[in-house]
Amino acid sequence: SQLLEMKNITKVYPNGVVANQKVQFSLSEGEIHAIVGENGAGKSTLMKMMFGMEAPSEGEIFLRGEPLKLTSPQDAIDKGIGMVHQHFMLVPSFTVAENMVLGMEPKKGVGINYSEAVRMTEEMSKKYNLHVNPKAKVEDLSVGMKQKIEILKALLRGAKILILDEPTAVLTPQETEELFRELKQLKEQGHTIVFISHKLKEVKAICDRITIMRAGKSEGVFLTRDVSEQD
Ligand code: ADP
Ligand code: ADP
Repeated sequence: SQLLEMKNITKVYPNGVVANQKVQFSLSEGEIHAIVGENGAGKSTLMKMMFGMEAPSEGEIFLRGEPLKLTSPQDAIDKGIGMVHQHFMLVPSFTVAENMVLGMEPKKGVGINYSEAVRMTEEMSKKYNLHVNPKAKVEDLSVGMKQKIEILKALLRGAKILILDEPTAVLTPQETEELFRELKQLKEQGHTIVFISHKLKEVKAICDRITIMRAGKSEGVFLTRDVSEQD
């Protein structure tokens, strides 16, 4: 069965806007899956329902075949779903290591001290080959580096599914290339990636399958090689 399935998802906001209308989305284990569509197509709304930020008005979500009701982002994190926001959720005046453990529950009475946070950050950075300096202050870092830290934060919290919201919007071409290398590596390490974008061209360079959204509806899922850029 599919890793994550969203069936007949409709989302009506309190002001009456129908942002998603009977949307279908299915995520296979180990793929990089793009959700593509113009501004206002309903991508963010779908993403928010995947991460417990909004509840569907109608429809069902399944994780590994089991019904999934997410009540909050923390709930999503606990179920192995991680999010890399377009606007990073990092505290600029804190170090990387501090940001990595911020908001994490200490294990059964054992708090996370700073040297432990530094050690964990180094370990994660090595494991995922991300070259992050645990002791650097976030405000001194490049945008590309901040994004890496957001990715590492999600991985540290056990994310198996990683959702990236317009990840290249803020990156230089060189940083974008680096991100794509890292995403391919994460995929090889068994992670599944949802990549939200309005740029079909870049999506074709990295994603296995594409779900196209238009005016609140999903127009089907396509293999990358079958999608031409005029579509
Ligand atoms: P996209 O991410 O593809 O740009 P969105 O999901 O952000 O699309 O938006 C889809 C539609 O829903 C748009 O018409 C947008 O204005 C509307 N919308 C998004 N968020 C809200 C909200 N919180 N309340 C009301 N309408 C919203
Ligand atoms: P993004 O594309 O990153 O979601 P937006 O500027 O579209 O950023 O939206 C910023 C916030 O405003 C989001 O939380 C979104 O849900 C909300 N929003 C978007 N459109 C509307 C709308 N028409 N009415 C109310 N809230 C909205």
